[in-house]
Amino acid sequence: MVTLVIATRNAHKVGEIRAILGDRFRVLSLEDFPGAPEAVEDAATFAGNATKKSVALAEWLSREPHPGLCDSPIRVMADDSGLEVDALNGAPGVHSARFAALDTGRPGNSSTADNNAKLLRLMADVPPEKRSARFRCVLALTHVPGPEPGNPSDGCQGQESQLRTELFEGTCEGRIGLAPSGQGGFGYDSLFAPAGSDRTFGELDHTVKNRLSHRARALELLRSRLIGVD
Ligand code: IMP
Repeated sequence: MVTLVIATRNAHKVGEIRAILGDRFRVLSLEDFPGAPEAVEDAATFAGNATKKSVALAEWLSREPHPGLCDSPIRVMADDSGLEVDALNGAPGVHSARFAALDTGRPGNSSTADNNAKLLRLMADVPPEKRSARFRCVLALTHVPGPEPGNPSDGCQGQESQLRTELFEGTCEGRIGLAPSGQGGFGYDSLFAPAGSDRTFGELDHTVKNRLSHRARALELLRSRLIGVD
């Protein structure tokens, strides 16, 4: 069985990824590796940030001893995702997690309430027919080589130059509502209604989101790539 180590502490993302992938893979996250470093997300693109997060964790897993971890195939995966609003020229985009904090210069992510309030404020004069938006998710998958043949106690073997990373992308088109609606999901879910629905991801059952979402679409591509690796 392939082990996927997800480079995130976002429990919502881990929950969605586990639910979408099912039990075909063993899924671990940064919660299982408390000493792991977290990459600074300062790239200009989702692909750049996803790659940074995935490679940083893969390098650390290869450097530090993790008995048994690499005895079966292991991949590191990072999700970088966000909301692109057409009326705001694609903002908040890569800044989705710290949209409100951009105004104060405070480091770190902003609260969901602050991010959503800023989005609604900036869109106060945008009519319903111009409130189109999409969620975008880029997944980076980094291959961590296993032990040298004949020396299973060697553990993971990834040198920086050996770490191969592939990218998978998914989008989900929709609209931004006039006010938050629904308690489900996380982030901008209570403001985003996927195309064809009058209800937001915050109102829809999580099984519906996990079928339609940007993350589900990217994971489907990744899953097809991984099938047969074991
Ligand atoms: P990341 O952890 O840097 O990828 O930040 C992603 C940010 O984009 C999150 O903090 C959310 O604000 C937003 N986001 C990404 N995916 C979703 C989603 O599925 N629903 C709602 N918001 C999301």
